[in-house]
Amino acid sequence: MKAELLLALLLAAPALRAGDLGSEVTFGARGGARFHVNAGYGPQIVFDSGPSDPLPDAWDTLLIQGEMPDPSLRFAASRQAGPAGWVELEVHRFPNGRFWARGRFPKRTGALRLRAFDEGSTSDHEVTMYAVEVFAENPDAPSLPSLPSRGPMDPGATPPPVHGRAEWRAAPPTNPLSPDPLPWRITLHHTGGRYTASLAESLEETRFIQDFHQNGRKWSDIAYHFVVDPLGNIIEARPLETLGAHTLNNNEGNVGIVLLGTYHPPKNDQPTAAQLASVGELGRFLVRRFGIDPASLKGHRDYKQTDCPGDLAYVRLAELRGAFAGSQRARKSAARPSATR
Ligand SMILES: [Zn+2]
Repeated sequence: MKAELLLALLLAAPALRAGDLGSEVTFGARGGARFHVNAGYGPQIVFDSGPSDPLPDAWDTLLIQGEMPDPSLRFAASRQAGPAGWVELEVHRFPNGRFWARGRFPKRTGALRLRAFDEGSTSDHEVTMYAVEVFAENPDAPSLPSLPSRGPMDPGATPPPVHGRAEWRAAPPTNPLSPDPLPWRITLHHTGGRYTASLAESLEETRFIQDFHQNGRKWSDIAYHFVVDPLGNIIEARPLETLGAHTLNNNEGNVGIVLLGTYHPPKNDQPTAAQLASVGELGRFLVRRFGIDPASLKGHRDYKQTDCPGDLAYVRLAELRGAFAGSQRARKSAARPSATR
């Protein structure tokens, strides 16, 4: 009954203009769609496109734009071929109701199915999708590895205390950094360098690593996004939401966290409780902010032949995945390590 009503609404939608990029997605030869949301019935599915018309070109990105009068809506999409599952779309909505929503998939062909969920609208309203389009974000890039489906994203998630780049007098990037705004995985490293004993020493070591990466390895900036020292201080490295340089061939969507020290024989530096707590808190923030699957946390050695992040850090990954998945309540009641020792 509801599905028939939705189908009728869908078919009643006017044919709409194709986007500027890629292929317009059509459903029964019509692009875009319009659907009605009744207040007071959420949470519920309020729109289900069914499979789109075939999309013969490989695509990895879905983009929608339209009008969303009430901010209570979220979107998910799936590809009707292959194991991608449902992917939650990132929604950007202006206060005036204009919105766009975006989802990332492994690069492949296959028809699209789109759903909208009402999480509790307070007014009856009409949602319009002017255009639904798919494209390959970088047509020359190799196909992406299979992405885990993304959980809900919380733009209001609160980051733990972080010492910013200014505190270690970071040099500017030697080349513009590439944006990488929707990370879906996290990788742990160690520096294989100094095991620091004070914040001042950690800031100095971070400055050293940047110089080593920029002028020794000729990279644009320090490779990682975050540095965590043995005292539990979290230090901003390469800005978050820019492409890292820490995991060769697997930097896309990958947040790099590095532990200061050498957590491997023969030096055998020990990860400290404060350090692991800070990595856990940082990971919990990333998981909530971007909907990252906590199971996506890996060690550098899971991607290539390397000791990194060291045997003594690698054995803590399961525990860290658990911390990443921890609830907001657990986070609030847990003792927070001092970030300014
Ligand atoms: Zn590494």
